[in-house]
Amino acid sequence: MPTLRGRQKGATFGKSSPSWIGCVPGTRLPRILCIMTILLDGPIAFLRGAILTLLVTAPLAAQTPAAAPAQLPADDAIRIREFYRLAAEVQDRIWPLWSATPAPLLLVTSETEFLTHHPAPPPDFKKVAEDFYARPRHFPTNLLATFPAFGPPSVIVIGEPANTDAKTSTPWLFVVLHEHFHQLQNAQPGNFKATEDLGLARGDTSGMWMLNYPFPYGDAALGRAFAHLRDTLLAALREPDAAKFAALAAEYKAERKQFLAQLAPDDRKYLSFQIWQEGIARYTQVVAAEAAAGYRPTAEYAALPDASPFATYGQEMRAQTLEALKHVELATAQRVAVYPFGCAEGFLLDRLDPKWKDGYFRHPFTLDPFFE
Ligand SMILES: [Zn+2]
Repeated sequence: MPTLRGRQKGATFGKSSPSWIGCVPGTRLPRILCIMTILLDGPIAFLRGAILTLLVTAPLAAQTPAAAPAQLPADDAIRIREFYRLAAEVQDRIWPLWSATPAPLLLVTSETEFLTHHPAPPPDFKKVAEDFYARPRHFPTNLLATFPAFGPPSVIVIGEPANTDAKTSTPWLFVVLHEHFHQLQNAQPGNFKATEDLGLARGDTSGMWMLNYPFPYGDAALGRAFAHLRDTLLAALREPDAAKFAALAAEYKAERKQFLAQLAPDDRKYLSFQIWQEGIARYTQVVAAEAAAGYRPTAEYAALPDASPFATYGQEMRAQTLEALKHVELATAQRVAVYPFGCAEGFLLDRLDPKWKDGYFRHPFTLDPFFE
């Protein structure tokens, strides 16, 4: 696994270990869900557990056909090439040295899976094009996941746009960047051990605790407190005047502390972990789209029937995220609430301290130090 240097050098993560993060949309779970499975065993048992978890959280994959691998569909090849081109242009403007993180990707199509940018494609993959390897499909076609499917490094495992919540090519590219950010999180030295040290698994070795942790979402008083905190956050973000913004941000910090103080210690750790991991992944997805406003796609990408312009997509996504946050209730959204909420905290931090990201990996699993 890569060791990040420079600003992330002082990370408090310990020794490097495998872990995986995934997002499984369109399953029996309500919306895009991102899960992270960490097993305590070695890579082989770990991988078994990861696949088991996928199969219980997503529709079962079709039985693996024995047919020879198909060729990569031309539109998929164009999108994947565009992803790497786009990532190269924007990633280090958002997270320093992000480009040092390997970005292997497995595209899941109806019959075939295509692997690219992987340092050592497993033997069941056959080369079908330059840096593309294929095998019969194993994973669900609607998968959105990042995990070391073949051992480290973590692999983005994703379906074609029409089969995922992204639906079309341009949103899909930024979902892939969201997953690529999980690769950056996973690549931090000691990510696995640090997650284990949270002590939240309570005997679960499948990683499902990350979805199923019994956070008190339904607590009415907590729900009201969350709604108030959410509204204070939105009010601060809406304020253009610097002095008024500073006052609202100070109010937000105080309310945030009060809100977190009423949580049991493990509940607080869990919520902080989710905000750090998924909220900031969503934030990264939005700011990457904004950073790509001036991006000029290749002619082949622009000619795709479902390609939409980059110029305004980031702005639209920010507005949609904040609009969604307005209506988020803890009792109904449950864990999914952390996506727009944590994303909005990232927006707030950008205004409070443009250098906040320098400390993100030094403070794993909590944004608390930035709100002191
Ligand atoms: Zn995610």
